[in-house]
Amino acid sequence: MNCIFCKISAGEIPAEHALEDEHVLVFRDVRPQAPTHFLVIPRVHVASLHELEDVELGGRLLTAAARVAREAGLDEGWRLIVNTREHGGQEVDHLHLHVVGGKRLGPMLPS
Ligand code: AMP
Repeated sequence: MNCIFCKISAGEIPAEHALEDEHVLVFRDVRPQAPTHFLVIPRVHVASLHELEDVELGGRLLTAAARVAREAGLDEGWRLIVNTREHGGQEVDHLHLHVVGGKRLGPMLPS
């Protein structure tokens, strides 16, 4: 499968890893939208949040997001964004959670 995030998970494409275990990988977004911007992905290919059925994996992804935010010192707050499918603005078709922070963020849905 020609999936860039599967290749990052497999180590075939370099990324700046922040956290990882056998189920989940967290790495820095290559085009950060805030001073801190991580992507949390499952190692198995799940196309988007729309396809997620695995309750345990969902918990692992959320927990990894919280953990990396704490480890990055985002104690004043941060935002989790999951762009989902075409209308949600998803560009990479492998489920990923954006963890963004490091500054006061603007409105969630700017017009
Ligand atoms: P989305 O629009 O939610 O699908 O977000 C995809 C994100 O993946 C964007 O923020 C990109 O900057 C990021 N991205 C794409 N390719 C890479 C890569 N090779 N390494 C790190 N982040 C990437």
